[in-house]
Amino acid sequence: MREELRWTGEIGRVVASRKDDKWFVSILVHTDDANTMVQMSLMDDLFPAVGVDVGINTLATCSDGTTYENPRPLKVHQRKLRRANKTLSRKEYLSNNWRKAKRRLASVHYRISCIREDSHHKASTSIVRKASRMGIETLNVSGLLKNRKLAKALSDSALSRFLTMLKYKAERRGIPITEAAMFFASSQTCSSCGSKKSELTLRERIYHCDECGFTCDRDVNAAINLCPT
Ligand SMILES: [Zn+2]
Repeated sequence: MREELRWTGEIGRVVASRKDDKWFVSILVHTDDANTMVQMSLMDDLFPAVGVDVGINTLATCSDGTTYENPRPLKVHQRKLRRANKTLSRKEYLSNNWRKAKRRLASVHYRISCIREDSHHKASTSIVRKASRMGIETLNVSGLLKNRKLAKALSDSALSRFLTMLKYKAERRGIPITEAAMFFASSQTCSSCGSKKSELTLRERIYHCDECGFTCDRDVNAAINLCPT
């Protein structure tokens, strides 16, 4: 085995699966850990409430200023992917070489999904470990997908999946999670005085409030707005 079992308890179901020529075994262990997790959340004072802003350039920005980078694996592996696709299209259908090329293509796809999943797991675990309560946004995915350039970057960063991951990890630890209303203007609103800008372009990385003079990183300002009170 690659790693030791992380939990002790009665072993239930064991499932073997295969992804891209690699074998995986998942082992279900019955433990009492769930109770310990809920007790942890009772120590509310130890950890602050955290607002999380998700994005394409920076995967997550927390209201305390911590950021988690977005590896955008599809962008990085685009050439490899294109080459593997091209090679496959040149091979005779169902020939041995075709099969080989198909495996190669699957392996590039697999690598991409591993990088993405790894970064999502690391960021979400790190965030839920330091929060007593969490606030996140509700993505208007269909609205964002209308912008074709943004659509590709959006599917590459799989932000909805990241938010789902944050939610289930928070739930598992007994951390209450607040989801902002879909059209809540977390980026446009000043986290200091509450006034709202009518326009804020994606290029403006620094939020500057004309009303109260508050100046702050754009994503941190959004994260503070998402922070549950
Ligand atoms: Zn202001």
